[in-house]
Amino acid sequence: MEHSYTFLDKRLYAYCTPQQRKYPEMVIYNEKLGAALGLDHLKDKPLERTAIFSGQQLFEEMQPIAQAYAGHQFGHFTMLGDGRAHLIGEIKTPSGQLVDCMLKGSGQTDYSRRGDGLAALGPMLREYLISEAMAGLLIPTSRSLAVVATKEKVYREKPLAGAVLTRIASSHLRVGTFQYAATLQDRDALKSLADYAIHRHYRDEVERGLASGAQTAKYLLFLQAVSRRQARLIAKWLSVGFIHGVMNTDNMLISGETMDYGPCAFMNPYHPQTVFSSIDTQGRYAYGNQPYMGKWNLAKLAEALLPILDEDKTKALEGVSRVLVEYDEVFSKAYMDEMAAKLGLGEAEEGDGELIQTLLQWMEHFQADFTETFIKLTLREVDSLPFAALPEFSSWQEKISTHQRKAHADFTEVETAMKRANPAVIPRNHLVESALQQATEKTSLSEFHHLLELIQAPFSYSKEQLACVPAPLEAEKNYRTYCGT
Ligand code: AMP
Ligand code: MG
Repeated sequence: MEHSYTFLDKRLYAYCTPQQRKYPEMVIYNEKLGAALGLDHLKDKPLERTAIFSGQQLFEEMQPIAQAYAGHQFGHFTMLGDGRAHLIGEIKTPSGQLVDCMLKGSGQTDYSRRGDGLAALGPMLREYLISEAMAGLLIPTSRSLAVVATKEKVYREKPLAGAVLTRIASSHLRVGTFQYAATLQDRDALKSLADYAIHRHYRDEVERGLASGAQTAKYLLFLQAVSRRQARLIAKWLSVGFIHGVMNTDNMLISGETMDYGPCAFMNPYHPQTVFSSIDTQGRYAYGNQPYMGKWNLAKLAEALLPILDEDKTKALEGVSRVLVEYDEVFSKAYMDEMAAKLGLGEAEEGDGELIQTLLQWMEHFQADFTETFIKLTLREVDSLPFAALPEFSSWQEKISTHQRKAHADFTEVETAMKRANPAVIPRNHLVESALQQATEKTSLSEFHHLLELIQAPFSYSKEQLACVPAPLEAEKNYRTYCGT
């Protein structure tokens, strides 16, 4: 394991030891991910795996730390830090990538404030399931390697089973990490952090920018690169109906991966104002607000980086506004491309925007299920769509077909392309809840494993996946998610 983070300014982290437990028990281990990380030596060693991924066995090469960060939570600035997570080290994968290996729910740290440092089994299994679903949907995300039950109680509204999740991410640098560094009022510390982030995530982009002689300084190129990746990520979220739920700046990774699977959920009937999180009473992080909140978060990153962007403050601010204007363009293009692909149109063309908008308006008006609508369009089962009887629908379809024929050789090819862009299955809220309930109340993981199998390859269009298509609307109408993780 490596510990590149510990070479940064000492104020950015604290050495902390995971809590000891007597009887940890492995609940689920991600064999495929383990192999991709080069952890084959742990393959037939279940006891060792359990000990490592609950924080019991600490090899010399592990130096657990908790990272310091700040964040705007629902718009309010707060000093935070890993209050219940330990970064045990960084793994160099066989393909040469450096990734963070972090335990979550592993006990108190210097940043726990009044928290107990613990996590409950249900929410950790939920994070495992949804993050693996996102990976299956080919959306950049942190990954889940293991969930270990601690066999100790965690006290929330009632006593719950405790657990530790092992999260793998290409780093845990957040917008909030930069906000924290900015509070140190130390330009060198801030520069080292930015250089570190560039080195881990944006070396090519920044080098290319500098080599092209762009009139943009290094750290502005960095901001621009983060902005572009974030815009594309959020376009991908929208394309599958994903609602993150808690896009605070401490939950936004610099690498452009999705992280923090607390109150997230997938939308059923299409409506831009859809919110699931019980604490998001203002709809700040509603489905359709996500691109704007992504931009808001980037403005906070820009604010933190301001002291190192340019000696000339006016120039620095001009650079920032250029990046933020560009964010809108990158997002719009990425979103249009995602939606055009969903309709089998290849790359977006002039006029596609109107076709997409029309469809979304019908979906909103008729409360059509987002995922199901696109599956029906893919499989050409349009007659059962709630808006199929509209007189305008046939001319809309004709326009779509004409464009599809331009983009693809024949309709078989259109269908193949649409199947790659429209998942046959998403982690439907009622399926997730039922699997988690069975796992936590009846200690059976059979439903969980079954659902996991379906959502890990969501574009296969298997019979079993298609059986999950219809959303039980009534049961889901008042679905709420909670941050009480
Ligand atoms: P989140 O809402 O998960 O993004 O967490 C926000 C902050 O609260 C982070 O700094 C977490 O580390 C911290 N936190 C959440 N739950 C706990 C807990 N049970 N004990 C200590 N800190 C926690
Ligand atoms: Mg968080």
